[in-house]
Amino acid sequence: MWVYRLKGTPWELEPLIPELFDRGARGVWEREGEVWAYFPAPLDLPYGGVWEEVPEEDWLAAWRRDLKPALAPPFVVLAPWHTWEGPEVPLVIEPGMAFGTGHHETTRLALKALARHLRPGDRVLDLGTGSGVLAIAAAKLGGEALGVDIDPLVLPQAEANARRNGVQVRFLEGSLEAALPFGPFGLLVANLFAELHEAFAPRYREALAPGGKALLTGILQEKAPLVRRAMEEAGFLPLEEAAEGEWVLLAYGR
Ligand code: SAM
Repeated sequence: MWVYRLKGTPWELEPLIPELFDRGARGVWEREGEVWAYFPAPLDLPYGGVWEEVPEEDWLAAWRRDLKPALAPPFVVLAPWHTWEGPEVPLVIEPGMAFGTGHHETTRLALKALARHLRPGDRVLDLGTGSGVLAIAAAKLGGEALGVDIDPLVLPQAEANARRNGVQVRFLEGSLEAALPFGPFGLLVANLFAELHEAFAPRYREALAPGGKALLTGILQEKAPLVRRAMEEAGFLPLEEAAEGEWVLLAYGR
C-alpha cells in the first residue's frame, strides 16, 4: 500500500478529496494540515504531494488506532470500536465515505448549536445529512428528525448509524424541496457551503414555522458576509455566531 501525502489548508485540500477517490484512492484521511490518500500503487498525480510506501496491515490498524473520539459538548462522536467513560452523550458513527464523523469543525459547531437551540418535540430538518450525525444528535435531544441528502450513497450509511444509536430518524434522498412536505420545521440545521445558503435563504423561510430557527454552517469566515446578507434580506433575525478555526456557524430566527 502506498500513501500520497499532501500539505495545505482545509480550503485547498477539501475539493481534492473526491478527485483522489476518482483516481483510485482506497481511503483518504484528513490530518492536521495534511491529507493522506492510500493507493495500491503510486501514480502520477498533479497535486505536488509525496509518496511513501506503508506495510499493508499497518494501514487499517494505524487508522483505527489514530482515529480519536471527537468531542462536541454535550456530545462525543465515537467510532463503533471506541469506548467512552465520560458524561457526554455518545453518537456512534461508522467512519465511511459519508461526511460527518465529528472530525470537522463544522460538524462540531452544528452539534454544539443543536444542544443550545433544540427544544424537545421540535420537528428538525438536517439538510445535507451525510453520515446522519446531526439528525441523530437532534433525535437524541428529543427532536423529531428528518435528514435529506442529494447523494443517495450516504443514505444507507445514515440509516445504519441511526440504528446503531437506537434512534428513529427519517432519511430521504433530495434537497430542501423534498423536505418541505414534512414541514414546517421548528429547527433547520445545514452544514453546506456559503453560496448554497445564500441561494437557499428565501426557501429556508418557507421551511420554518414562525419562531423557527436556522443553524447554518459549512461557512468559511471570509464567506460569512454572503450568508448574513442573504438571511437578513430574507427577513431572518440574527441569533448568534460561533467559530472554530476558519469556520463559522450562523444562527437565525424566523
Ligand atoms: N451533516 C453532516 C455534518 O454536518 O457532518 C454532513 C455535512 S457535508 C459537509 C454536506 C452534505 O450535504 C453532503 O453529504 C452532500 O452530499 C450534501 N449536499 C450537498 N449539496 C446538497 C443540497 N443541495 N441538498 C442536500 N444535500 C446536499
